[in-house]
Amino acid sequence: MRIKKIVEKTVPFGSAIANSYINFNKMTSSAVAVVTDVVYENKPVIGYGFNSVGRYAATSIIQDRMIPKIMNAAPKDIYEEDESNIDPFKINKLLKKNEKPGGHGDRAHAVGAIDMAVWDAVAKIEQKPLYKLLAERYNHDNYEKKVYTYGAGGYYYESDNMNQLKDELKSYLDKGFTDVKMKIGGADLNIDLRRIETALEVVNGCGSRLMVDANGRFDLKEALDYGFAIKDFELKWYEEPLDPLDFASHQLLAEYYPGAIATGENLFSFEDARNLLRHGGLRPDIDSIQLDPPLSYGLVEYMKILKYMESLGWSSKCCIPHGGNQFCLHITAGLGLGGNECYPGVFQPFGGFADDLSIREGYVIPTEIPGIGFEAKANLWKILRNIT
Ligand SMILES: [Mg+2]
Repeated sequence: MRIKKIVEKTVPFGSAIANSYINFNKMTSSAVAVVTDVVYENKPVIGYGFNSVGRYAATSIIQDRMIPKIMNAAPKDIYEEDESNIDPFKINKLLKKNEKPGGHGDRAHAVGAIDMAVWDAVAKIEQKPLYKLLAERYNHDNYEKKVYTYGAGGYYYESDNMNQLKDELKSYLDKGFTDVKMKIGGADLNIDLRRIETALEVVNGCGSRLMVDANGRFDLKEALDYGFAIKDFELKWYEEPLDPLDFASHQLLAEYYPGAIATGENLFSFEDARNLLRHGGLRPDIDSIQLDPPLSYGLVEYMKILKYMESLGWSSKCCIPHGGNQFCLHITAGLGLGGNECYPGVFQPFGGFADDLSIREGYVIPTEIPGIGFEAKANLWKILRNIT
């Protein structure tokens, strides 16, 4: 088989929301299509991908630098030995060629978007849902029959008030989630404590059903102040309290904050993840790692991170990818991770799962159609089908 062409298009999100650090209004994503010459039922196999949420399209990196690396490469550097399918590990190697170490940034999202499209194509060529392909190849054929998920939101809307927060979180429980996550750090501590208490009312006062997310906004003193103020709520986790690359402060916070900490969504490489694990003081028995494969060089890189985590005694169950998309849902099911985020109703069309999949008691299942299943999410499919 051969890749005939790869195309990229910038797509807007249009989410009128903000967290303590950024506004999502003008954010975009790169949608990618890998068009192959394989044909099923008179239709060419096309793999689709995008670079998750909360960042921007990596258009020129993909178009000017990454796509030519693949299209100009020798077949032996792209395909499996028998040339019956694409080899995602070879693609990763190709895309990282001639790139200096460090400073990962948008380059990691560019590679991640292409990696997602490649895995979609690989699973479609094998005519399997991606989670089953991953389970067969890398997890001794074991997969999760259902995946833990939670409703992430609790944003600071322009006309923020307690009732609006309450209604929003309640609507997630109505959708079938049991646990919810809210933003903190966008107001002062006293207001945030009122917001947390309001959110706790929604989950019957049960701290283990509520997470708070500071989006990397605090310095060490603020993170410790918040940690001290919220510790008795015994929340499910305290997310991104600190700048994602300030490992020494994480180590100190983990020493003083007795509850669970979750972080990693803004680390974009194996090397950054390794630094967090080496120096961040995080605890494998309670903490969660949230790296997002399409933002961080893709699934090939993510598997390298999982292997490293295992060598340090971390279970794959400690990994709960950020992003709330179908790709991460398949990865979580196929590789046995601990769960997958979900942003109900925002970050459309990329966020969320297939239209006919409902959340039941906090769990969701991946699609059974070949590939990642974008074709089963109408608003996303409407965009992706037109990019070629
Ligand atoms: Mg977060």
